[in-house]
Amino acid sequence: ETETENFVINDKAVKQIFKPRQEFSHKGTYGKVVIIGGSYGKMGAAVLSTKAALKTGAGLTFTLAPKCGYEILQTSNPEAMFLEGGTEFINHIEADDQAVYGAGPGLGTHEETVKTFLSFLKAHAKPLILDADALNMISQEPENIKLIPEGSVITPHPKEFERLFGATGNSFERVELAKTKAREHHLYIVLKDHRTQVVTPEGKVYYNVTGNSGLAKGGSGDILTGIITSFSAQNYTQEEAAILGVWFHGRAAEFASEKYSKESMLPTDVIHEFGRVFTELN
Ligand code: AMP
Ligand code: MG
Repeated sequence: ETETENFVINDKAVKQIFKPRQEFSHKGTYGKVVIIGGSYGKMGAAVLSTKAALKTGAGLTFTLAPKCGYEILQTSNPEAMFLEGGTEFINHIEADDQAVYGAGPGLGTHEETVKTFLSFLKAHAKPLILDADALNMISQEPENIKLIPEGSVITPHPKEFERLFGATGNSFERVELAKTKAREHHLYIVLKDHRTQVVTPEGKVYYNVTGNSGLAKGGSGDILTGIITSFSAQNYTQEEAAILGVWFHGRAAEFASEKYSKESMLPTDVIHEFGRVFTELN
């Protein structure tokens, strides 16, 4: 039994983490992101996740998606590059060990996708960011959890958490179970909720206080994945990327709700407020 440490993610904490952009720099300074996501009918998730990575300052951004996403992705995000998924995708991405991978948004759980994705995980040793259908595929077999590289960030919403680790009675029990699992598998667990918690392998729990119910809409989680992956690629530790990421996401949502209302704001509007959040941090 380790001692618990609880922290609130406040402005002061994130300002200590945040690193302003350097004048003497180039795109290589700010990392390489690969978003693995999208499937027929859910390509928007990959579009949003990729756009969130682009708009949080990543140096080079790729989307790895099925062929049916090619035109959609190239048109929606001209600054990002397209990598074609399918059974070949492992070779594609293992070719580059500099990149940070964020997998899951809109990926689907088609049989072929499961096979390819799990063999990618087996071959991949570097920490990555896993969300949505990546987590749903891992949930299909209890043994799969061991395939996640140590030091990875997982971002389950309550249902995804339950599929991964089982049901809990309330959010307090959920945090306790997350602490056990984070320690056991050496993972950073972002428990997404009204007040998101970041649980570390050492048993620390960070409570986020930004964000609002305008985020309770499809696509909100997909942009969080893009944000955390982007920060992880930009020389932030996994812990820093997760903490800064959830705060940043919520803060952008606050700006979006001021402008559009909680009802009307869309994840796309949240992305458009990223600039204001950076201005505040700088
Ligand atoms: P997902 O369910 O994967 O789309 O993720 C939803 C995202 O929106 C997470 O980052 C949640 O923390 C956030 N979110 C959803 N509902 C609320 C809410 N009522 N208040 C604050 N944040 C929320
Ligand atoms: Mg989601």
